[in-house]
This record gives sequence, C-alpha cells and structure tokens, in this order.
Amino acid sequence: MPSTDRVNLASSPEGLEVRERYSSGYGYWDVWTDDARMVVLNAKDARRNGAVIRTRTEFIGAEPHEDHWVVSIRDRTTGTLERIRARILFDATGPWLKSNSGKFTGLDRPGDLKLVQGSHIILRKWWRGSHAYVLQHADRRIVFAVPYPGGLAVVGTTERHLEGPIEEAGILPSERDYLLDILNSHFKRRFGPADIVSSYSGVRPLLDRGGSKGLSGLTRDYHLDMTMVNDRLPMVSAYGGKLTTYRVLAEDVLDLLGLHLPNAGTPWTAGTPLPGGDIPHGDFNSWYGEFARGHEFLDEPLLRHLGTTYGTEALDVLDGVRDRSDLGRCFGNHFHEREALWLAEHEMAGFADDFLFRRTKHGLFLSSEERKDFESWLNSNNLAAAQDIE
Ligand SMILES: Cc1cc2nc3c(=O)[nH]c(=O)nc-3n(C[C@H](O)[C@H](O)[C@H](O)COP(=O)(O)OP(=O)(O)OC[C@H]3O[C@@H](n4cnc5c(N)ncnc54)[C@H](O)[C@@H]3O)c2cc1C
Repeated sequence: MPSTDRVNLASSPEGLEVRERYSSGYGYWDVWTDDARMVVLNAKDARRNGAVIRTRTEFIGAEPHEDHWVVSIRDRTTGTLERIRARILFDATGPWLKSNSGKFTGLDRPGDLKLVQGSHIILRKWWRGSHAYVLQHADRRIVFAVPYPGGLAVVGTTERHLEGPIEEAGILPSERDYLLDILNSHFKRRFGPADIVSSYSGVRPLLDRGGSKGLSGLTRDYHLDMTMVNDRLPMVSAYGGKLTTYRVLAEDVLDLLGLHLPNAGTPWTAGTPLPGGDIPHGDFNSWYGEFARGHEFLDEPLLRHLGTTYGTEALDVLDGVRDRSDLGRCFGNHFHEREALWLAEHEMAGFADDFLFRRTKHGLFLSSEERKDFESWLNSNNLAAAQDIE
C-alpha cells in the first residue's frame, strides 16, 4: 500500500465536493469488506473443513454433565428440539452474551457488558472516485463516508447506549440528523432526509471494567474469558472485538484451549484465503479481465457484480452458462434465477432477505413489486425456508 500523504483539497479531485473552508487533508489506504458475506464465507470454509453448520437454529441451554455438556438447540423453522453432546463450549453471541448467560447452568460470568448502537445511512454516492472520506464531528468523533455497491455511499456511524431489546435497535431521528449534519458541514451540497435510500444499525458489546467516563472510552479490543464449569468443563466467551481481528481472536481461543485440544495443530488461517479469494497473486483486476473475456456474451455490470461478490466462485455460479438465456429469469438488477439457485445450494440462503440483503445487496435495487415477485418465485420453487415460528 502507498504511504499516507497530504492532499491539497483546493486542487485535487478529492476536494471537488468538499467545502472551501477545508483546504487540506490527509490520504491513507485502507481495506473494506462486506461483513455479511464474510460471515457466510467463513461458515462455508468451516463446513469444507469438517464443521457442521446449523443455520436458523437457536441455542436454548447447556447443562454440565460428568465429562461433557449437553446442549439443547431448537430449529426455528420447524420447532424441533435436539440435544447434543459437547466437550467444550465457545460463546460468540456478541451482544447477546448477557441475555444468554442464564442458559448455561453453573456459569458465573465476569464484567459488565455495555450495548452500544451504531447507525449508518445509505445515500446515492455524490463524489467521483473510489476513495472514502473520514470526517470529524463537533464532538470530535469521526464519521466515515464510504463507497457502497451500486453507485451508493454509506455514512456512519453514530454511538449511543442501547437500552431496549437488541432486536429493536434501529436508527433514531437524532442519529439520522447527526449524520446529515456532518455531511452538510463538510460538503458543498445540501443533504436532507429525502436523500436517504436506506439505513441500518449494529450493536457492539463493549466490556465495561469501570473507570471510563463515556462510551468512546470503552475498549474496542476483544476480551476472552475462559471458565472451568464444575472445575472440569471448559467454556470460553468472547467480548467485543473487530472484524479485522477475527482470525487472531479465533487463534487466541485455540491457544487458551490448548490443554483441552491436544490435536489442534498449529495456526494456519493467516495466509489462507476464504472461498472465492484464491485469486492468483491477489491481483483482482487481471483475474477479472480474464473472467470477463471468458463471458463476453454477458453484460459488464452483471459480470462485475458476480466477480466482486463471489471472486473465483463466480466461475462456479456461471458453470455451464453458454448464453444469456441459461441465466433464467431476471428478477431485476442483474439478479437471475441462476444466482438464486446457486445461493440456495451453496450459501444456505433460505429466506428472501438472505438472497436480497444478506448474501447480496440486490434488495436495495429492486422495487417492492420485484421483491414480491422474487418471493413468489422462491415459494413456488420450494426453495424458501419455512417461516420462523417465533
Ligand atoms: C456500528 C458498528 C460498526 C462497526 N464497524 C467496524 C469496522 O469498521 N471494522 C471492524 O473491524 N469492526 C467493526 N465493528 C465490529 C464488528 O461488527 C464485530 O466485531 C463483529 O460483527 C462481531 O461478530 P460476531 O460474530 O462475534 O458477533 P455478531 O455479529 O454480533 O453475531 C452474534 C450472533 O449470535 C447469534 N445469537 C445470539 N443468541 C443466540 C442464540 N441463543 N442461539 C443462536 N444464535 C444466537 C446472533 O443471532 C448473531 O448472529 C462494528 C460494529 C458495529 C456495531
């Protein structure tokens, strides 16, 4: 990556949209990921390495027995309860750690968990170029404006203590205004609520060890807690963390469990790509050029979507496609039956939102009519997961 440099906003393209009062800035390089896709790719990778992945399954409780746990789980689409044995438990339920605590018989958890909501707004991208902006608010917090797929931009985040249930977290008018304010104070054009295409909120579980005056003073680092329930059954809980450190966190968990997992081997994930990431020399542009040349009969935006979403697995999505008609029906925004069938088979997609928002972002670009049509297609092809019964 090139090093940090100073940007003259008065003369550089990055400054075109920025208010005149900001005459200089700093440029640096960073990486981005689609967190929902990162989760599914890790699940696929784990499955390839022998893990059993149970989506739409709820952890109900765990009881310690002589040398193992008995864990109760429930399939949320059928209601079926199942009990399974486990030697070790790892609780990675993040913001739900606190509400799940009572489900582990004999567990005494340390520390207080603060739930912090962060909201984002999505707007049509208003600047040219693939760069992002880091803006500083009057309260000295920073807010990012980052390119988002499909000609959009995402702006966030806010930070507020969440008091109600996690499931009800959603952007408040005050958070929306906070984000619009920072845009209006940094950019020449005027932003209002009507510019917002969509919004979403996330919840961070931050460990409060006392002594911090505000939310921003709480650590974003992860903390691992290992407890030996009944003096013999290991149980690890992860508090906090970042996407950027998830592989280090996972290796730290295995380190902690070393004595209990004598055959775990040595760490191997640092240099191993996730499914679809095995792009020769990490050179996406060269790989994409070749991929696009091999499928010249398809539109560039479709190829770009498949290449950036699935990496080398895009070849698998298009396996056997010789002609546009092989893609099947188009639901809108380059979303075809072919991709939907592949998602159902390879990426555990079952609910309409899995296809439209979690595995892809097609839902942002389909009209409500088109989304309904897609749902009908899903139901009539028996691909839809049954509705959640709760
Ligand atoms: C607003 C915001 C912005 C962020 N920005 C960044 C960033 O820029 N860079 C970065 O690196 N990190 C960022 N993070 C942090 C990052 O999102 C988290 O570190 C990451 O999502 C943690 O993933 P996780 O799988 O541990 O937890 P989660 O993603 O919270 O997943 C927990 C899962 O547990 C499940 N669960 C809970 N209870 C049960 C149960 N009883 N049975 C079954 N399942 C259950 C939930 O359904 C959920 O799917 C941000 C976080 C927020 C909130």
